[in-house]
Amino acid sequence: MTREIPIGIDLGTTFSAVSYIDHAGHTLVIRNAEGEILTPSVVLFGENEVIVGKEARNAAAVQPDLVAQWVKRDMGSPFYTRPIHGQKLPPEVIQGCILRKLKLDIQRTLGRVDRVVVTVPAYFDEIRRKGTADAAEMAGLKILDIVNEPTAAALAFGETLGYLSPTGAPQKEMTIFAYDLGGGTFDATLLKLAPGDIRTLATDGDVMLGGHDWDLRLADFAADAFQKQHGLDPRKNPAAMNRTLAAAVEAKHTLSARVRASLRVEMAGRASEVQITREQLEEMTADLLERTSYTTRQLLAAAGLEWKDIDRLLLVGGSTRMPMVVNALRRMSGLEPDHTVNPDEAVARGAALYAGYLLAKESGDVRKAAFEITNVNSHSLGVEGIDPDTLRKKNFVLIPRNTSLPAKATERFSTKMEGQRSIVLRVLEGESTIPGECTAIGRTAIRDLPAGLIKGWPIDVTFEYGSNGRLSVHAVVPGTSHEAKLDLERDSGMTREGIEQWKRSVGEAAGFNSFESMLQDVLGINIPLAPSIENPEASPLRAPTDGRSAGATECSGPGVRAYDSAPLDDSPAEKLSPIPPCKPGASALRTFAAKPQSLAGAAPLWEEAEHIPVENTVEFAPEKPNGKPPSAGMSLSRVLFNAIGFAVFSAFGLALGYAILHYIMPDKFKWPW
Ligand code: ADP
Ligand code: MG
Repeated sequence: MTREIPIGIDLGTTFSAVSYIDHAGHTLVIRNAEGEILTPSVVLFGENEVIVGKEARNAAAVQPDLVAQWVKRDMGSPFYTRPIHGQKLPPEVIQGCILRKLKLDIQRTLGRVDRVVVTVPAYFDEIRRKGTADAAEMAGLKILDIVNEPTAAALAFGETLGYLSPTGAPQKEMTIFAYDLGGGTFDATLLKLAPGDIRTLATDGDVMLGGHDWDLRLADFAADAFQKQHGLDPRKNPAAMNRTLAAAVEAKHTLSARVRASLRVEMAGRASEVQITREQLEEMTADLLERTSYTTRQLLAAAGLEWKDIDRLLLVGGSTRMPMVVNALRRMSGLEPDHTVNPDEAVARGAALYAGYLLAKESGDVRKAAFEITNVNSHSLGVEGIDPDTLRKKNFVLIPRNTSLPAKATERFSTKMEGQRSIVLRVLEGESTIPGECTAIGRTAIRDLPAGLIKGWPIDVTFEYGSNGRLSVHAVVPGTSHEAKLDLERDSGMTREGIEQWKRSVGEAAGFNSFESMLQDVLGINIPLAPSIENPEASPLRAPTDGRSAGATECSGPGVRAYDSAPLDDSPAEKLSPIPPCKPGASALRTFAAKPQSLAGAAPLWEEAEHIPVENTVEFAPEKPNGKPPSAGMSLSRVLFNAIGFAVFSAFGLALGYAILHYIMPDKFKWPW
């Protein structure tokens, strides 16, 4: 039987790399068709051809509207920020094109492609992880798993130190800080390495910070100098700005090795040779570096650790080659940053090691799968409810971030109204207590509750988060046979149908024409994304009444959430109205005495209800029992009510203002009568 080759892909914002494990068990890095280890994550959409890599990157300066780069930053949004050929493309599709190129390079080197492990920043949320898996599928790759970049880097580090084998490793446990500053993202992770055991302690990061921000600052500096000299602004000309940006990258790299560099800016037949020193670069980007230091300090605090507890400071990502990064880390930590693993290759090598680990585990080869990996969740997971003190919607966290996986947590909530017939459960991912600032990742409902349930009836919500990053949510209504289950296995973003359709265009790589016809044929208005505010019709969020998995998710760009206004058909109109106070505790206990006959057998409720924490007395707004959308009449009456209210208060305000002016300046502001 042929051995399945463990393959790891580092799908980076700026560069991607591929590694595999050879027969001798060593990780090797694959060279692309251009003979290089790093493939620029840039896609050129020609009319009849899709080109990925160096050539595409070079084309960015000449044909910027045909080139897509920094796409990883847009994962989780419905579309890539810049239109290509004037058309909006989903980021997954562009990432799929990059992965297709990597697949071809793997095929060329190994003769075939087996299943792969793809890496993502630890800070990526469910939606972005799912998008990455979808992109791989569109490229025709089979995913073994997705692994966090710092975990992969730690694996590569562990390999060199012998930590991956429980017998050959040093006996000492080691706490490492992985500082990964790439082109587009910053990741900070604390890990514990013990023989045969790699454990993530905590992770934090910034998906909007990377070497590219340094490039932009430098390009801006050069553009200012050009404008001063020639009175023309290169920022107004995309092609000139792209060339300046490319020159800025070169100058930045030079400044990592030397103390001065120059960059050329050209536009409209004029040119400037702009001189820059390392000191100037460091000054103009000090705030960017400070952002990484801030996250670093936050992470240590979150883990309850100090620098003296850290054994190694691992540098990952190309931007850690900048002396300012190394110096700042040295100053801050008192440690000498570790260069043991190549910052460009560590993640891909670690991904291949992880693939090897998974394959060995699958085949029952205990000798090779002799290490364990423990991850943490990088975002808190909670449920939306109503804070009884403020009566405002709040994210009640069940599994806080940085909890070791697998994790399980149960909380008791309660119904909001007398005789409530259904319960809506919205699952949120994020740290904020304000639901609007979190990502709504799933939603389910329990319907047809028995009639006559008193207000404050308990509902037990259980979250189970597996080591594989799969969240399942289970809600039960004690004393009734009602329950709902929701599996949130990366089921947001694109639909299965959408992936299959895009797969053809990505697979053919026949040029933008095929993408365009795909956009017109299949998408039109009906973009094949899972339910979103723009596309509520496609909602698989409507939980089946039998309590099966609702596969529920909603998504849009990071931080943009407007769930309440989404015209989802099971969003009860009542959700938008003021929510009556709802404090069970003692008062709930009193009303329990009058509980309906049908629930008389639910004796333990008495006792359990007594323990309902007041702060968890939350919403679960009643739905319309038949799940129909709120009637138009209701929203019209609300609009009328608001309009009349507005008019009355405006008139009152005007009169009051006039009275005040009359009082202050009686001669100027006389009463009209
Ligand atoms: P990503 O993981 O985001 O793809 P990489 O880890 O490949 O990123 O790092 C790419 C970034 O590293 C780019 O911003 C690049 O300019 C920067 N970089 C690479 N080499 C150097 C260097 N010698 N000096 C400064 N920055 C560098
Ligand atoms: Mg990287």
